[in-house]
Amino acid sequence: MTDRLDVSGLGFETRAIHGGTGPDPATGAVNTPVYLSSTFKQDAVGVHRGFEYARSGNPTRASLEANVAILEGADFGLAFASGLAAEDAVMRLLSAGDHLVLPNDTYGGTYRLATRIHAPAGLLVDTADLTDLSALAKVWRPQTRMVWIESPTNPLLRVIDIAAVATITHAADAFVVVDNTFATPWLQQPLALGADIVVHSTTKYLAGHSDVIGGFAATSRPDLAERIAFLQNAAGAVPGPLDCYLVQRGLKTLAVRMERHCANALAVVELLRSHPAVREVHYPHASGQMRAGGGMVSFTLTGGEAAALAVCAGTRIFTLAESLGAVESLIEHPARMTHASVAGSTNEVPSDLVRLSVGLETASDLVDDLRQALDGTDS
Ligand SMILES: *Cc1c(COP(=O)(O)O)cnc(C)c1O
Repeated sequence: MTDRLDVSGLGFETRAIHGGTGPDPATGAVNTPVYLSSTFKQDAVGVHRGFEYARSGNPTRASLEANVAILEGADFGLAFASGLAAEDAVMRLLSAGDHLVLPNDTYGGTYRLATRIHAPAGLLVDTADLTDLSALAKVWRPQTRMVWIESPTNPLLRVIDIAAVATITHAADAFVVVDNTFATPWLQQPLALGADIVVHSTTKYLAGHSDVIGGFAATSRPDLAERIAFLQNAAGAVPGPLDCYLVQRGLKTLAVRMERHCANALAVVELLRSHPAVREVHYPHASGQMRAGGGMVSFTLTGGEAAALAVCAGTRIFTLAESLGAVESLIEHPARMTHASVAGSTNEVPSDLVRLSVGLETASDLVDDLRQALDGTDS
């Protein structure tokens, strides 16, 4: 017996709150309980009620997996212990000799995973500016099997045309992966644009409160889902039930949080565009692909690296920390922090760049905080 609501055809907010979950069949608990059990009783040898051993599946995880899949418009969803664990499983779909193309300003950890773990095992890896389709054509090889998109990119927040890349990639019988961590399914739905797999660091906006590390892969292709599910179980990088619960709790407020993240980011962008200490502001334009610009902003300073470091040291509400996508605002220096691992590579980031994750505090407080930090730099 299940009271679970059929959410098909219902709006995003309704699907976020009710998708994949419903009153617990055993107790009526409104939230899916945190099932702290590593194993499940079998009624007879091989006869079970859907769960056997918690690495293979757990009811709390199953609820989260259904919920995120519904939001991404995917038929299948698989939760992982971290964003990188999900990415690792997806890259393992490739074999030695296959070629992977990454954006030239992808998340530093993605670049490190591809070049320092999968490349030594035989994967061929290239990076390209995927905002320029001719750059993709230049690195294309007969062995190209996977094109990895992160849009907007990190930390320069440029928009890659997912549908256009998917058309080119599918024509060559390769497939497209989109890291949708920055945009979230509220802003952009990559599978509807032609992507084959969506990955997430659920650590960020999906969970949204800086209290859990998690990852996700979603797809509507049964062949890919089956292989990712095999890797999830066979390699075992699975999230625990409490982690799954925390991510799912975050999903319920994703839409309202994203609306405010976007509004606060616009207020910050307006300040940055008018401040003399700022050289260039990077903020994605809302296009057909994204319904709004999101909560991430980056900018360079007329005073160079010293000014960038001074701004990072000068804010009081924006906390100096890595990560993003949570209720509190964060500031960081990508070249020395999130992207330190790509120094000296094709994916090196400018040293005068500052990245903000604009949180949900009062917009005028955030603007005032940044203004006083910028006023304090010598420009
Ligand atoms: C944080 C992040 C990751 C890695 O996720 P973890 O949960 O830290 O493993 C991957 N991609 C993007 C865009 C990220 O911001």
